[in-house]
Amino acid sequence: MNFDTANQILKENMALPDAKFGQNFLCDDIITNRIVELAGLKNGDNVLEIGPGIGAITRPISNLDVNLKCVEIDRRLVDILRDSDIDAEIISADYLKLRDYGAEKIDVVVSNLPYYIMTDIMKKIFSECTNSRTLVFMVEQAALERILAIPETKQYGPLSVLCSLYGDVKKEFVVPFSAFIPMPHTTSCVISLRRTSGRIDSGFEGFVEKCFSMRRKRLMKNLADYDRTEVLEAFSKLDIDINCRAEELKPEQFLSLYELLNNLVLND
Ligand code: SAM
Repeated sequence: MNFDTANQILKENMALPDAKFGQNFLCDDIITNRIVELAGLKNGDNVLEIGPGIGAITRPISNLDVNLKCVEIDRRLVDILRDSDIDAEIISADYLKLRDYGAEKIDVVVSNLPYYIMTDIMKKIFSECTNSRTLVFMVEQAALERILAIPETKQYGPLSVLCSLYGDVKKEFVVPFSAFIPMPHTTSCVISLRRTSGRIDSGFEGFVEKCFSMRRKRLMKNLADYDRTEVLEAFSKLDIDINCRAEELKPEQFLSLYELLNNLVLND
C-alpha cells in the first residue's frame, strides 16, 4: 500500500488515525514486502496479524496460500477491512482480552505493534502462541534495547528473557519516518524472532514476571509463593546464590528454575 492509496482509504472512510490506539499506518510497499518476506510463510501456514489497521501488511499476506487471522481493536478499521476484498478472518477485539483464537495452532505472528502496549502483546504471544516458529514485529528502537538486554543491566527484564529463550532475535532494518501516516515521533525498526528452543510452557511467562516483581529484592523473596525448602534445593542444584536478584540470572537459568519448581520437562 502506497501513500496515495492509504490516504484515499482513510479519507473515503473519514477515518482519521487515532493516536490512542497507536495508529501509524504503513504506506510503503517496499517496507511491507520486506516484512512479509521475513515472515518466511509456507503454504497452509496459520498466520496471526495483530492490529491490521487498513491492511498494509494484511493484503500481501492474504494473497499467499495461508490462513490469515487478524485482530483489530478499532471498529472503524474492522469495517473497512471486512468491506474490502482482503481474504482474511477479521476479529473485532482487543487482542489483550482475546481468548479461544486457536493460539497454539499459530505458525507465524506478524505485527506493526501498537507501541503503547507492545510489551503486553509480546508477552501474551509468548505465553499463548507456544508453537509458533517465527515472529516479525515492528517495534520502537527504544524497546529493542529491552528486548536485547543482557543480565545485570538496567534494561534486562522479563521481555529480554522471553525473547532470548524463544530463539534468534535479529534487528532487521530501520524504517524511515516517511513510511508511515502519520509519521511517528520515535524511530521504528523491524525485528524477527526465529524459534530455536522447543515449546516453552505457557506458565513460564508468569513465572518470569513473578521473579522480577520486586526488582531490587532478592529473587528468593519474589518466590515466596513456593515452598522455601524446594526453592533452596533448586537454587543449590542450579548453583544460584540465595542472595541473588532476578536480574543476575541468565535466561536459561530461569527456565531450569521454572522446570525444577514445577516438576516439568520443558525443553524437548
Ligand atoms: N498494521 C497496520 C500497518 O502496518 O499499517 C497498522 C499498524 S498501527 C501501528 C497499530 C494497529 O494496532 C492499529 O490498527 C490499531 O488500531 C491496532 N491496535 C491497537 N491496540 C490494539 C489492541 N489492543 N488489539 C488489537 N489491535 C490493536
